[in-house]
Amino acid sequence: MARTHCPNCDKVIEIKSPRVGAALVCPECDVDLEVISVSPFEVDFPLDDDWDDDDTDDWN
Ligand SMILES: [Zn+2]
Repeated sequence: MARTHCPNCDKVIEIKSPRVGAALVCPECDVDLEVISVSPFEVDFPLDDDWDDDDTDDWN
């Protein structure tokens, strides 16, 4: 069982088989999260939209 803490409310979050990029919702505060690392297990706020926009500008 992988275990980490919610970056929003600091509640313990446990997942049996986390995968990088997998979306999840904190059971305590309902914030949207994303698995950013599995070893160690870490989650963070999903930032795809933000950096994707910047990245697209750079590429174009
Ligand atoms: Zn939370």
